[in-house]
Formats: sequence, structure tokens, C-alpha cells
Amino acid sequence: MLVSLDRVSLDYGSGTRTVHAVTDVTARVSRGATIAVTGPSGSGKSSLLHLMAGLEAPTSGTVSWPAFGISPHADPARAGVVFQAPSLVPTLDVIENIALPLVVAGATDADARDRSREALSLLDLAWLGDQLPDTLSGGQAQRAALARILALRAPLLLADEPTGQLDSETGAAVLDLMFRVAHEIGAALVVSTHDRSVAGRFDMEWTMTAGKLEDSVARG
Ligand code: ADP
Ligand code: MG
Repeated sequence: MLVSLDRVSLDYGSGTRTVHAVTDVTARVSRGATIAVTGPSGSGKSSLLHLMAGLEAPTSGTVSWPAFGISPHADPARAGVVFQAPSLVPTLDVIENIALPLVVAGATDADARDRSREALSLLDLAWLGDQLPDTLSGGQAQRAALARILALRAPLLLADEPTGQLDSETGAAVLDLMFRVAHEIGAALVVSTHDRSVAGRFDMEWTMTAGKLEDSVARG
């Protein structure tokens, strides 16, 4: 078990301005699971992913990471998070961007660079290594962010509408890569999307409606 949510709620603000972003959600993510989190804009998808990443603390209920012991946010090697706009450091080239969290996690510079090159090669992206982020297209930047996650070998891969800003062809290619990375590491993959055609590729679909996990469907 990677993440367990037990009657979890998340409110933003307080008093009359309280927004109930997530309400009483109980759910689990096991190793190797692939889950699409769907629902309309404002239904709580991002909030749910942030809770699973340990980036937000629940207002009530419990989020736990039985396989990790502590919040994955405390260690970048535990949960790889991909956002709609990938967060690459603009002054570092792609190799250095991939190496950075490895160094933070304790690898030597040389080892981090080797692992970064290896991750790029595995994804056939070696040519991106010495590029600076602002020279990359949206799809290339998402691929670089995925190589960073592959290098980290984080067992939990969380992606918040990773294809939301990409055209459908590039989006499909990035999603292919995401499945490859998850498979390569043996990681669980949790992806939020409002695109139903994307959701069909996952083992499971969680549907959010106004902060509630209304429906959880497993596919054969
Ligand atoms: P989704 O990702 O499905 O669009 P979100 O989790 O972003 O949904 O948002 C759920 C609800 O919480 C929405 O009503 C949104 O406006 C509100 N919300 C999200 N983030 C914040 C925040 N930082 N402060 C206040 N309200 C927020
Ligand atoms: Mg969102």
C-alpha cells in the first residue's frame, strides 16, 4: 500500500468563505496501480492529488503512506509529482534539472549525472540533455520532467492534468511515456484529467463530484 486516505476532507479558507475542496474521501493506492482521477473543473482533483503527495495536510481525516512511513513530500525520491506546467529550474540545463533532486536525495554529482543521462537515454531523449528549459516545447518539457521522475525511481507517480496544455497528439505521446516510466519503475500512476478518452487507458477510474469521490470503477 502506497497511500491510504481515510475519511479525508480538505477545506480552504475559514468562516463563511470556507471552500470544501475534498469531502470525506476514503481510498487506497496500491503498488503498480494505474488510476485516472476524473471530474469537472473545481471538483477537487488537484486538491486530492496534493493530499496524496503530502503537499497539503487534511483538515480532517488521515492520509498515510504505509510503504514510506513518513510523508513522501519529505523525500523527493518517494513521490514524483508532475504538474500541468512542468517545474524545471530555468538556469539549469535538462541534465542538471534531472540530477538536482538526486543530489538532494544524497547522490554524488557524478552519480546523479550518470543516472540522469541513463533516464534520458531510456526515453530516447538523450538529445534534450544540454538544452535549457526555455528552449523546450511544452511536450519536451513534460518529457524532461518524466525523465526526472524515472531517474528518481519514485514508487508513486502523481500527475495533475499533465496533458492539459498539450495538443492531443503530444498529450497521447506524453501519456504513453508516463505509462512506460511507471511500468519501468513498477510505480503506481495517479493522473487527474477531464478527458474521458484518457481515463479509458487506466486500470481504475475515480470520479470526483463537488469534492466527493462519487464513483470508483475498476476495469478488466
Ligand atoms: P480541480 O482540480 O478538480 O479543478 P481543485 O482541487 O483545484 O479542483 O479545487 C477544488 C475547489 O477548491 C474549487 O472550488 C477551488 O476553487 C477551490 N480551491 C482550490 N485551491 C484553492 C486555494 N488554494 N484556496 C482557496 N480555494 C481553493
Ligand atoms: Mg485541477
